Amino acid sequence: MAQRKILTYGHPTLKRKAARVAGVDESVRAIVKDLFDSMYAARGIGLAAPQIDELLAVIVVDPTPISPEGTRALALINPLVLSYAGSSVFEEGCLSVPGTFAEVRRPESVRVSYLGCDGDERIEDFAGMMARAVQHEMDHLQGVLFVDRLSRMRRSLLTKRLREIAADSQPDRPVL
Ligand code: ZN
Repeated sequence: MAQRKILTYGHPTLKRKAARVAGVDESVRAIVKDLFDSMYAARGIGLAAPQIDELLAVIVVDPTPISPEGTRALALINPLVLSYAGSSVFEEGCLSVPGTFAEVRRPESVRVSYLGCDGDERIEDFAGMMARAVQHEMDHLQGVLFVDRLSRMRRSLLTKRLREIAADSQPDRPVL
């Protein structure tokens, strides 16, 4: 088990775009394992590689703790939204923005292509909490946090909390 530190709001890596994975090898599968270990340890329902300081297009989700119906643990490598439908609002949180929740509107369902841990391409339709979690984690691959999707007015209500988190999350500096 390799539980990794989860970067929090204000860390520059969270604003950067992740690179696509060139080939699914042992190093990529090790990142998947670390993502699951870190997500479960933090009691999250999804985690993206940039949140553990790996700028690669790898995400994991497991919404079963909050929504057992139709959900499962899943790793997606190089995920790409092919189409989407509908619209829903849900109060989201994020392991990188601790203690902060806000309603975010997203498509209700998405069709996504991705590579599995075996390197094979899959195309799958997600709905409900799976669609919600996959889209939230895919945003991380673009350097987007859920608070970036809020209107300026609604984000301003969170400004104080976000400043507090950012003050605590400066990148590690070399210790002399
Ligand atoms: Zn998140």
